[in-house]
This record gives sequence, structure tokens and C-alpha cells, in this order.
Amino acid sequence: MSKKYNPLSVLFLGGVGEIGKNLTAIKYGEEILIVDCGSTFPSPDTPGVDLIIPDFSYLKEHKDNIVGLVITHGHEDHIGSIPYLLQEIPNIPIYGSDLAIALINHKLVEKKVNTAKLNVVKAEDKVKLGSFTVEFVQVAHSIIGAFALAITTPHGIIFHTGDFKIDYTPIGNSKPVDISTFAKIGNRGVLLMLGESTNVEKPGTTISEKHVGKTLDKIFMANPDKRIIISTFASNVNRVQQIIKIAEKSGRKVAFSGRSMINICEMALDMGLIKMDRENLVEVEHIKDYPREKTCIISTGSQGEPMSALTRMANGMDKVVVQDGDLIILSSSAIPGNEKAIYTIINNLYKRGAKVMYGSLEELHVSGHACREELKMMLSLIRPKFFIPVHGEYRHLKQHAKLAQDLGIPESHIEIAEIGDEIEIKTKKLQRLEPVQAGAMYVDGFGKISHDQIKERRQLSNEGVIVCVCRVNKTTKMLSDNIQIEARGIELREEDIAEVKMYIMKAFSSMDLEKPFNEKEFEKSAAKKVANRMAKLTTQKPVVIPIVIEDNSDFYE
Ligand SMILES: [Zn+2]
Ligand SMILES: [Zn+2]
Repeated sequence: MSKKYNPLSVLFLGGVGEIGKNLTAIKYGEEILIVDCGSTFPSPDTPGVDLIIPDFSYLKEHKDNIVGLVITHGHEDHIGSIPYLLQEIPNIPIYGSDLAIALINHKLVEKKVNTAKLNVVKAEDKVKLGSFTVEFVQVAHSIIGAFALAITTPHGIIFHTGDFKIDYTPIGNSKPVDISTFAKIGNRGVLLMLGESTNVEKPGTTISEKHVGKTLDKIFMANPDKRIIISTFASNVNRVQQIIKIAEKSGRKVAFSGRSMINICEMALDMGLIKMDRENLVEVEHIKDYPREKTCIISTGSQGEPMSALTRMANGMDKVVVQDGDLIILSSSAIPGNEKAIYTIINNLYKRGAKVMYGSLEELHVSGHACREELKMMLSLIRPKFFIPVHGEYRHLKQHAKLAQDLGIPESHIEIAEIGDEIEIKTKKLQRLEPVQAGAMYVDGFGKISHDQIKERRQLSNEGVIVCVCRVNKTTKMLSDNIQIEARGIELREEDIAEVKMYIMKAFSSMDLEKPFNEKEFEKSAAKKVANRMAKLTTQKPVVIPIVIEDNSDFYE
């Protein structure tokens, strides 16, 4: 008797058509293996939102079939939603590198989620989860403990690159990327490759992390008379390690500044991922007790985040007082969308008398993502039968698909996925199935909020609000003409107010007064009528909130 044929498919629940909230599910028969579970930072069009996470509906519906969650690395766009997933589905076993697991654990403690089954894996480890065998393959990236995944399924190998670059001379704890490992996986025959696309628009190859160290070393040597404040991504442990080494060499004490920098660096020091003479580490409160030119502060805030240490310094609101004689280095590049915030900080730091070095002035930062030539090399080594580009906006995915085609993968063997797509891997082709429920959920300080609420907030901030207090005698079913109108964020003239009142009365008179007075129905109808009228009169679309209050005064008699 032959075994039952189980189809193999990939579900894209986040991380395609966007750079952020990566969440991919690989399905064999009923079994589901999840790869990454990330979040996205909010943007100006999601007011009041702290975090954007994927819609977990599909996973919740199939929660009993989930065999595990494997993590490529500890960046927020790969781990940021894990506490929220575990709040819905508590018992998923999670596998990741030591640093990724430490960062996840920190999040879970913060969110008081204590059901997690966390497992640390090393490069070359193999973990069997249901019918899948996951092999963790070390890659270079802007965080240590980053993996590509070779996932053996009963139909063949799915190779997920994770976020990667090819760095032949990495520093610290990273081993150079072993090109031969990729070639060996390619030789075994890869059915499908999921390849990250972030830097597909950049020609050539990325510069080695070592170059940043050399540049920083030169800057430190050239400025022996200055206090140096340097901001970078807290999770870039290798970068922090390079800075510490240079600071120690130049006889400076080191302090960490900013919550995430302190948290991650202390974690990394305890884990032995950062090495330094502890004598040289000073708490940021005490750094002023040392000669300024003998100190170095490593800080968060390289993206202009409003509450970060560097922003506070720039605004004169931090323990660290920036002044003449300070050199401030931004060892980072702006994530698109953050430029304005970053330039505001740079301007303010200059105003305080500091010297600032940033951006393309020098090689102060290198990307953690493969450029075109590296993407080509990966595709050539893996030589997959099918290819689906991931980790990119639509244009990145499109260009990565073209690149694969240029390297000889037939167009019919390449798909561009959108969020919610399920793509089946058949023997001869990729087959798009019915999309599943997927998308974004929003989180603020109080919990999850819906898409409609975001729309309303956007409308409130852009278009203003009109509150109409309507006095209704529910017994006599009469509306008082004493309607109070309060407007915020929209200018109402006398005649506009008269119009608002008139449309409220229209809404009232269109109610079926034979039936008992239906407050909700009236409010809805009044809101709609007034909003429509205002849109015509003012070209603004304010949120209209009618409020009914019971009024039994003898006003009506
Ligand atoms: Zn990453
Ligand atoms: Zn990423």
C-alpha cells in the first residue's frame, strides 16, 4: 500500500511586499512549521500605535497542527511579535541562536508570558519537528547568531536565506561565511529557495564590518582631546564590541546609554558575546567623574527615536550634557522614513556646540544585507528548482525575481507572493492556492486595536472632530433645538454650525417615531448626515460624534 500523498505549501503571513513583521508558515499535509514572527515599527499614518504585528487568525485556527517556530535571528522584524503569538497559542516550541533566545526571553519576561518553551541551537544543529528536519546554517548579518535554514521536507529541501550578507572577514565571534556550506546544500538539490531581497537595488557587494572598525579607529586617534559619544543599533553586538575595543585601546572609560543598549550589552557581556575589561565599564551617571577626553558613551538613538538617549541629549534632557568639545558619531544609516527625525537631532547636537559625524561622510556603517552580487552568488550556489523572493517591498521582490531569471531559473518557477498567499510546491510548478486570512494588527499601551480604530485616529488627527450634544425627551420623542456643537481641529463658521444643527434635525425627523426612540440608530444617522454635509462645505472629513442626553425638562411644553 502506498503512503498517502501530502501536499507541501508555503504561507506568507507577513514580510512580503514590506520590510517588517516576517512570518512564514511551511505546511506539509496538516503539519505547520513557522519561520520567524516579527513586528514592524509604527509610522506617522498609524497614530498612537506602538507596534504592528501580523494577523494570527490562520495560525490560531490551525494551532493544534503547529510543530514549532524556528527563528533566523534576533532582529525585531523576526522576533518582535512572539509574545503576542504566545498569548494566543501558548505552547509552541521555539528554536533560535543563543542571542536570539536571550532577546526573546527578555521580551517574554517584560510581557509576563511564561509558557514559552525556548531552545538554543548552534550552527549546524539539526532539529526534527514533525516531518520537517531543520538545519541551522550560520550567516553573517548585522546581529550575531544569524542563521539561514535548510528545511528538509518529504518532498525536498526548502532553503530560507534569512537576512544575510557575505562577509569574508567578519569580526569577533562570527566565523566567516562558509561558502562551501551553501554549495554543499546546493549539491543536495534544493526544491525551493526563499531569498531575502532588501538590498537587491544596490550593485556590487557589501563592505566588511572590519572597515567600520578601521574608520572608527582613525576617528578616535584623530580626536584625543574630545569626549566621544557614538550611537548605533543596540543589537549590533559586533559593532559595539569594535567600539569598546577601540575605546579601551585609547584609554577611555566606556558607558552604555539608553534602555535597550544597557539591556542588550549587559546580556551580551554575561553571555560572553562582548569581551572587555569590566574595570573600564562605568555607569552613565558616573561617567562625568572622569576626564571628558578619557570617556566614550555608546548610545541608542541612531534612528532618531523620540524617547532614545541621543534624542534626549540633543534636546538637553539627558543625564549626559552635550557641549563644546564633544564628538558625536552616528554609526548607522537612516532607515527610510527616519531621515527627518535624524537630521533634527543632528541640528540640535550642532547647536549645543558638538561636532557630529554621520551618514556617508565616512565608512561609519555597513549594511547587514547582501547586495546584488552576493544575492547572485547565493542563487548560484543553492541552484534551487523554484524561487520565491521575500523580505522586500514589491519592487525589491520583482527585481530579485528578475535576477533569478537572469541566472537561468525559468519564469514559471518563480512566484512573487503577497501577504495571505498560499503557494503549493508541485513536482512541475508552483501553484497559487486560495489566499488565507492575513494582514496587520496594531498594538498600543492598552492592547490590540483594530484597523477601523486606526482609520478613526488618522481621521481625528487629520480632519478634526465635531461633537454634537443633542437633548432628547425620549417619552415625548422631541429634540430640543438647544444643540451644543464643539469642534476641534476644524474651523466652523456661524453658518457651518447652523448647517450642522439643521442636519441633526433632519436625521431626527427621518426617524420612525412610531417605534420607541432608538438612540444608537439616531446617532449613526446624524453622524453620517453631518459628516457628508461638512465634507461638502469645508473639504474636511471630520469625525462626527453625536451624543444623546435625556432631557425631561418642560422646555418642550
Ligand atoms: Zn535582520
Ligand atoms: Zn529582517
